Amino acid sequence: MASPMIPSVIALDGPVAAGKTTVGAALARHLGYRFLDTGVMYRALTWIALQRGVDLEEGEALGRLATETTMDLPPDGRPGEVPLVVNGSPLGPKLRGRVVEQAVSVVSRHPQVRGALVARQREIARGGRLVMVGRDIGTVVLPEAPLKVYLEASPNERARRRQRELSQQGEAADLDTILQDLLRRDRLDSERALSPLKPAPDARIIDTQGLTLAEVVQEVLKLVGRAVA
Ligand code: C5P
Repeated sequence: MASPMIPSVIALDGPVAAGKTTVGAALARHLGYRFLDTGVMYRALTWIALQRGVDLEEGEALGRLATETTMDLPPDGRPGEVPLVVNGSPLGPKLRGRVVEQAVSVVSRHPQVRGALVARQREIARGGRLVMVGRDIGTVVLPEAPLKVYLEASPNERARRRQRELSQQGEAADLDTILQDLLRRDRLDSERALSPLKPAPDARIIDTQGLTLAEVVQEVLKLVGRAVA
């Protein structure tokens, strides 16, 4: 059980496949916190837009869709659980496939989409005891979060991790294709006008290169300890 002294919201940001989701979920389990992966919200919206044939360049239509779509953490979810309940049911692994992946950064750059999803993220954060991961959590969504962490690793290392993840889902892809996709997504996420990917000025940066999941979680836990010292 977490001590009441630890920061009640932890913001965890970083580029594609830096390990945010795995580390964030493990951290939340360790602290007995809820876990919100905001990437899943953008992925879910992209999936629904593709299913309904909404033009991905139409910010207004996508913003309306984002407002109409309900996105909740499961009420009885165990700490650290990943699923998000979208329009009443979990969407599952299809959100991690390449179809969604190739479109999501186009959807996420529209101000109407960001406005709707950031508002929902802040609502969920109001309940406290939460680890929230994404791109702009420390800079835009929760700039007042008492602990902000930014995970980094080289593009090659991240591409290898992504390849392992995809192959576990039965999707084979060669390393160079994955690397090019990842660099493209990093570029779109970093260069967009609104909420670009970057560490908050007071974020603690962890280079995860060559570290195991357990080692990264330990590093973050040290920062959790220091944030209350
Ligand atoms: O973290 P993940 O790879 O699942 O995020 C998918 C996409 O969602 C990112 O490439 C980015 O375009 C978008 N995203 C965002 N802001 C966040 C989280 C994700 O723009 N807070």
